[in-house]
Amino acid sequence: MTDLSALPVSPAGCASAAPAKRTIPVLRERGQREVFCGLTGIVWLHRKMQDAFFLVVGSRTCAHLIQSAAGVMIFAEPRFGTAILSDRDLAGLADANDELDRICVELLSRRPDIGTLFLVGSCPSEVIKLDLAKAAERLNAQLFPKVRVLNYSGSGIETTFTQGEDAALRAMVPVLPKDDASQLLVVGCVADVVEDQFRRVFDQLGIGPVAFFPARRAADLPSVGAGTRLLLAQPFNGDTVRALVARGAELIQAPYPLGAEGTTAWLAAAAAAWGVAKDRFDEVTRPLIERSNRALERYRPRLAGKSVFLMPDSQLEIPIARFLSREMGMTLIEVGTPYLDRQMVAAELDLLPEDVMLSEGQHLDLQLERVRAARPDITVCGLGLANPLEAEGLSTKWSIELVFTPIHGYDQAADLAEVFVRPLERRSRLTV
Ligand code: SF4
Repeated sequence: MTDLSALPVSPAGCASAAPAKRTIPVLRERGQREVFCGLTGIVWLHRKMQDAFFLVVGSRTCAHLIQSAAGVMIFAEPRFGTAILSDRDLAGLADANDELDRICVELLSRRPDIGTLFLVGSCPSEVIKLDLAKAAERLNAQLFPKVRVLNYSGSGIETTFTQGEDAALRAMVPVLPKDDASQLLVVGCVADVVEDQFRRVFDQLGIGPVAFFPARRAADLPSVGAGTRLLLAQPFNGDTVRALVARGAELIQAPYPLGAEGTTAWLAAAAAAWGVAKDRFDEVTRPLIERSNRALERYRPRLAGKSVFLMPDSQLEIPIARFLSREMGMTLIEVGTPYLDRQMVAAELDLLPEDVMLSEGQHLDLQLERVRAARPDITVCGLGLANPLEAEGLSTKWSIELVFTPIHGYDQAADLAEVFVRPLERRSRLTV
């Protein structure tokens, strides 16, 4: 069973900006990066918020990206699209604004199921010249309260792919109703099945009321205020968290609910903040931990002793590295992250091995040289790097799978382990 005394949860459970206790040296690199842009977040955000539409204002490249990333998952009328701006539109910005308004009004009249429309900016210069905040204001004057129009940027100049979620949630913070009553707010997009499981556990622990942000319907905005305590489900929503803290909420520092140990520590932090008795906590979590560990047992022998190199991409690298090293016995060669937001990963940093090699940012060529020199058993990387590395005889895992697959919580811990077992098995089948 997890020894909670060894985990970094403060007795009160809360900390507004508790720094990591250990100082880990970080290799900072600047150079060519190989990551998706923030538009990619639309793929999982539109599945979670079932009354939201994401209209990308962009180029044909943006349309191709979003269609190829999400196209295979469309089973009904899609709730995302791209308004393509061409050079010709630049000639008259007033016309471009009128055209955008017309497209939005037409779209919403065809889709009465849409309650929130996100205008998503991108990086082509013609889009940067359009003021999407003003466009949202104009459209709200016309459409609110039936439809709320919000805007954010998913531009590759400003965002890596998981930052798209942060930007979308951050855009919602100013419109959240104010309420100072006590509540737990879980921040970060999780699959519905995971949300249901967590709700059941919080309920059994007597923690509540509990709200999730984002909710299944974007229009169901959670409230925020002095009584709101934030428990983070994803490590990449730093701007959103700071905006919620600025509105009076308090951050509970905890590792992320990845793996049995991470989930226990995450729940324990909330339980400490709510004053749940230790006996009660153990009674509720023990069977869940045991079941989770039994499921993980299947995968431990296949991962223990294997080496992993995590390239900077999803911002999930640090909690995933903690899970792989502590719960699965893997050796961390390098843990890369696009940005090191210490406030968001303070509790995770304290759980990494003493000698961990942590890198922030990317100089692609130098990093690839390190991958080739180390020849790890698994390299976690973006789609663009996976095929070339596979061709060099290395096993890879697409980091994007970590945001498309339900991996949080006790019941998904084994699924998370399996994500890393699959590439090893595939390679062993290919090797004669
Ligand atoms: S990087 Fe820029 S141009 Fe390319 S898809 Fe993303 S937003 Fe569009």
